Formats: sequence, structure tokens, C-alpha cells
Amino acid sequence: MYNDVGEHVFNILHTLDIGALVIEEDLSISWKNKYFDKHYSTDQKSLNDLCRDFKSVEGERSFLHILEDVRSSKEHSIISVDCQLSKRGAAPCDVWIYPLQEERSLIVCQLQTPEKTAQCEALLQMARYDPVSELPNRMYFLEMLGEKLLSQQHSESLMSVMVIDFNELDTYDTVFSITSDELLLLALKERLNDVSKKHALFARVAPSKFAIVCETAVTPAEVQKVAQEILHLFFEPISVEGHLVYAELSIGISLYPTDANNAKNLLLKAEKTASAIQKTELNSYGFAHKLPEKNVDKILKISTDLPAAVENEEIFFVFQPQYCLDEGRFCGAELLARWEHPELGFISPEIFIPLAEQTGMIRTVTMKAFMEASKMFKALEGRGIKDFSLSVNISPNMLLYNGFMEDLEFFIESYEMADKALYLEVTENDFARNFSKMIDALNAIRDMGIKIEMDDYGTGYTSLQYLSKLPIDTLKIDRSFVQDIDSDQQQAVLFKAICDMASALGYDIVAEGVETEAENRVVQQYKNVRVQGYYYSKPLQVNELFELLEKAVVL
Ligand code: C2E
Ligand code: CA
Ligand code: CA
Repeated sequence: MYNDVGEHVFNILHTLDIGALVIEEDLSISWKNKYFDKHYSTDQKSLNDLCRDFKSVEGERSFLHILEDVRSSKEHSIISVDCQLSKRGAAPCDVWIYPLQEERSLIVCQLQTPEKTAQCEALLQMARYDPVSELPNRMYFLEMLGEKLLSQQHSESLMSVMVIDFNELDTYDTVFSITSDELLLLALKERLNDVSKKHALFARVAPSKFAIVCETAVTPAEVQKVAQEILHLFFEPISVEGHLVYAELSIGISLYPTDANNAKNLLLKAEKTASAIQKTELNSYGFAHKLPEKNVDKILKISTDLPAAVENEEIFFVFQPQYCLDEGRFCGAELLARWEHPELGFISPEIFIPLAEQTGMIRTVTMKAFMEASKMFKALEGRGIKDFSLSVNISPNMLLYNGFMEDLEFFIESYEMADKALYLEVTENDFARNFSKMIDALNAIRDMGIKIEMDDYGTGYTSLQYLSKLPIDTLKIDRSFVQDIDSDQQQAVLFKAICDMASALGYDIVAEGVETEAENRVVQQYKNVRVQGYYYSKPLQVNELFELLEKAVVL
């Protein structure tokens, strides 16, 4: 009846001396066992009435709150509440709330006696496993994955989720006249055994789908190897009841935290990828992350070569100058990462930065940017150039890692950065991720004397009310608002509105991507704006930047 919990569980529930019911998302009761019907004085259709009966003894938290927590976390909860029993009125009961698919919940309640607690636990254990494969079922898989993610929230650990989807498994019994599809399933599971043993979680998440969580294979190149290993396992046919069956499968892979940061979405993305692959190519694998399809091999090579490139200085930084309109001079620069690959040539940061984020190398890349900034501050001082700011781009994941704060603190202290005009650029969209943690992190950074710049402003959905509360110093208006500002009246109006608002909120303004003289003519009217873009200068090497500064160009 509910496809995530076997029929057998409900049959057993009917035979037990404990109350059990299933509640739908809208809080209506869609199933009750006989015992509940008979002994609990609850025949109401809605949980609102039930809640009144289940007076929670857990302080402030109502039964409804607990139910919502169970739904969103996908983890069961056990509470003690007074339930109304038909014959004896209110009595203390243990109540288990268990998440099912489609926002349903299974609720099991029993009078508090030791034997019944044991009985109930045994039952819940049954609800966690798939009866045929004896593997964890979807619900339990999500619960365990959720726990893993929670325990690793503060570390930089990476993980991958792999869904192995067997194509049209349900038709095999008719095609091959196999009498028991259970035998086929067990044979498939058996074949996956050696691979699955090496990895953290192995479950049957749908009738024809298994899922594996890898903690040791986490980069695209490593996961690719595991996927190939699994495909190889099925090159040979499987023998079931004397029939040789060639299994057709596709493997979908999602990576944590790049593709999703919760169990449900990681699984869904891997599943979607697996079924998308099934439509185009059998016995193949794919990543949920949009690696440009034609370039998968190149991307895999790039991600393999990345660690060495960071070590051996193939990755370096250039400086995009910023011009202060009111002072009429170049007054700062943004550090932009560059990679000159010995075989592949120039690789855009738009390709290798996301890969560095996936593989954890971003921490080293960012530290290199900080070191480069500190060298630059020294060199500027040496040349007597004052009041010059440097901006370093920060990937959102970095801010949420605890280790980053320690790295930053160490850097600021050891390199005496506290009084330097150092900015961290965080893109607008990243502010919405894990809002309260982000705000705490940004406040802590500002307390260290570092300024925060909101990058790509205008590409996200920050409301005005929200914007005024953010701990930032500068708004960097995205290039898309500057483009054609001279010819497109609407662009000009929007740009003015953003500048007025930013000034009113007390933020400094940077406009990025000024490319033409005509665009510059419009932007120049805003004296309090700092500008960067190809019209002023392309990103420069250190010596080129000094040449520019020494020419003391006034534009
Ligand atoms: P971003 O932070 O928005 O950087 C601005 C990008 O626009 C740079 O591209 C820059 O070269 C380019 N640009 C500057 N002026 C103009 C202009 O007038 N017209 C046009 N069409 N483009 C202009 P780049 O260097 O390819 O960087 C792309 C993105 O890669 C950056 O966008 C940033 O998100 C990321 N990135 C670059 N370096 C780093 C880094 O060290 N760390 C992190 N986390 N991300 C980085
Ligand atoms: Ca930037
Ligand atoms: Ca930008």
C-alpha cells in the first residue's frame, strides 16, 4: 500500500497490541491498525484533534513541531506523551514517529511497559530493511546518509552518492521466464557485494535501484573508477535458474557538497542522472554536476592534474585594476586565478574553480591568493603606493568550513594584514546559503579588520530589507547592469537605482565590466563609484600593474 514500507509491516502491525496509524501530509489519517481503533479514543479524521490528545510533555515543543522535524530531517523521533485511551482515560505512552515517503508519517504508540518497548523497537528495525535483499531500504538509507552529513557538517569531507539503476528489471521474469524476480535481485546484489563492501552505505532504494555512498572516492576521477568497476562487474551474464541474464544498468552520481547538501537531494539528483542516461546510453554512468558532455575526459584530466598544479605554481594570480572616479586614480585590484596547463594550455577559472571546490583544493588556492595579496601589499609599500585595496574571491563553501576561520586568523596575524585594505568577495547568491552561519562567519571576518564585498550584485534575489541587514562594506554591481548602459535606458535607470540604494545604505560601490568609452561616460557621472573593466584595463601581471600605476593615468 505504501511503496516504501513493505506490506508485511502493516500486516504485522494489525496483529500487535500497540496502536499504529499513518498520517498524510495534510494531517489526515489514512490508515490505522485494529488495536488503535479499539483502544485509543481517537476517531477524528485530522491530526489537529490527535494533537490535543497527544499532549506533549516535551516542554514547549508541540506534537506538530516534532512531526515537522521528523518530516524534514527524515529521522524518526520517540516521545513520551499522555494519550487518551478509551477505557482508562489519559495514560503515559511512548510514541514513535517515523517518516515515510511523500511526507507521510507512521505513528506507533504503546503504553509504557518494558516488553512493549522492545517489541516496538523490533518492529521499527523491520521497517528499516528491505525484506528481499535484507539491505537498508530507502527511508533508512536517507536517515543514515543524513546522519553522516550532519556529523561531517563542520569538516571539509567530501562524499559521493551513486545510484545503480537496473533497466526494466520487472520485465526480466517474462522475457527470460524466470519464476522468481527475487532470485534475480539477490544475484545482482551478490555481484555488487565486493564493491559495496569497500564503501560506506549500500541500500536498495527502489525496486530496481541500489545506492552506494562513497567516502573514499569523492573526486570525479575517483568516482569514475568505481563506476567503471561496477559496469565491468556486469559484463558477464548472471545465471538465474539456469538462464543467463545480461543486466542493463546505468549509474548516476552526485557529489556532496557540490550537487546538494542534504541526503534527499543527493539521492534524487543521482537517480535523475541515472534515468537520464538510461534514455540515451545503456551500461554507462554520468555525473549530476553539469560537466560539459563532450569534455568529460578533459575535465577528468583537469581534476586529476589540479593538486600538482597548485603545488608547482602552474596556478597563479593576475590583477584586475579598479579605478576610483572621485580620486581619479587606480586605487585597488581584484585577484583572479589563472591556470596555464602544460598540455591543455589556458584553463578558465570558471572551469577549474568549481573543480577545486569539489576536490577540496579550493582551500589551498584561496590561501595562495591571500599570500599573493600579502606579497602585493608589501611591494606596494616598497614603492610608496598607499591606499590601494586588494580583493580576493572566496568560494561559498570556504566560509562554511570551520577550518577557514582558523586559516584566515593565522594569515591576518602572521602577515600583519589587520590594517590593510583587504576585501573578501562573496557572490550575492552565496549569501542565501545557510544564512545564519554565513552572517556569523562574515561578522567574524569583519571583526578581524577585513572588508566584505558582495560580488555579482543583481544576479541574485536579495531583498532590500535583507540587504540592509547584511554585514558587508561594498556592493559590486554585476557586469550585466553595466552592459549597454549608454544605449539602453532601462539599464541606466536600474544602475542609478542600485547606486542610490547602495549609497543610502552606506555601502561603497564597485561597477564591474565597463568595456566601452560610451559605457564609461555614463558610469563616470557617479563620482562615488569605483570602476573596473576592460575599458580601464584587462587583468594584469604584477609588473604590468606597476607599470600602469607608475604611469599615473588620469582618465
Ligand atoms: P568574477 O569574480 O565576477 O570576476 C570577474 C570576471 O570578469 C573575470 O573573469 C574578469 O576577467 C572578467 N572581466 C573583468 N572585466 C571585464 C569586462 O570589462 N568585460 C568582460 N566581458 N569580462 C570582464 P575570470 O578571471 O575568467 O574569472 C571568472 C570567475 O572565476 C570570477 O568571476 C570568479 O567567480 C572566479 N574566480 C576567479 N579567480 C578566483 C579565485 O581566486 N577564487 C575563487 N573562489 N574564484 C575565482
Ligand atoms: Ca569577483
Ligand atoms: Ca563579479
